Amino acid sequence: LVHARNVHKYFGDNHVLRGIDLDVNSGETVVILGPSGSGKSTLLRCINHLETMDEGFIMMGDEQIGYQLRGEKLYPLSARDIARQRSHIGMVFQQFNLYPHMTVLQNIIEAPVGVHKQDRQEAQAYAMALLKRVGLEHKADAYPRHLSGGQQQRVAIARALAIRPTVMLFDEPTSALDPELVGEVLATMRSLAEQGLTMIVVTHEISFAREAADRVIFMDEGAVVEQGRPDDVLVTPQHPRTQAFLSRFI
Ligand code: ATP
Ligand code: MG
Repeated sequence: LVHARNVHKYFGDNHVLRGIDLDVNSGETVVILGPSGSGKSTLLRCINHLETMDEGFIMMGDEQIGYQLRGEKLYPLSARDIARQRSHIGMVFQQFNLYPHMTVLQNIIEAPVGVHKQDRQEAQAYAMALLKRVGLEHKADAYPRHLSGGQQQRVAIARALAIRPTVMLFDEPTSALDPELVGEVLATMRSLAEQGLTMIVVTHEISFAREAADRVIFMDEGAVVEQGRPDDVLVTPQHPRTQAFLSRFI
């Protein structure tokens, strides 16, 4: 579903992504691990076209993210086409960024109704179904400030799902949470993975990677160092840099 080939990214002289190849199949949950500064967030942002890349390309389905091939030349897509591509990608960040002046339900239907012009009743019904999925149907009329961090992040997940994305990107969704709230968010994500959602998850939660990932990718210094089944990468890592990284968690 998502295929990245030879993706390079520079910030000035800083060569942040150094030829990334990544394949994510439909229904797969892929966890990306790696030290701070290894380029994990930048890679996610390239998939979403929040960053442009300097070499290589990313396909989603049979479309290239951000560009179109006409004849032999690549042309940047229009803002409208980029928005259309993004409407198939749900994103959940470390900071939940819910609209504070809107209720939970209003937060979730904002994009479907405001941006995608869906029918309000329909969007509300779907939002309630999503709230049920994340275990928060009783909070539909609450304001974000009355929710715990874990509940806010579950609302943010429901909000990302409301546009019916074909793939969900998570960038350290539990790093800003108090430790006792991490579990409920991971449980929500685990159930989404079991339901067959396609997910790319950057996280330091090794237990989540072991239990929910179909594949684990270890990145270091802008490159994929090692990837494979969770038990292979996490329990018997082959590469010294993966071993060194994981030894910090034991
Ligand atoms: P972390 O685990 O700390 O979130 P990361 O693996 O997500 O790290 P990135 O945020 O992708 O790493 O950053 C990779 C490198 O790119 C870092 O050296 C960072 O300083 C640099 N970088 C990221 N965003 C920008 C930017 N907008 N402008 C300049 N440099 C950037
Ligand atoms: Mg990051």
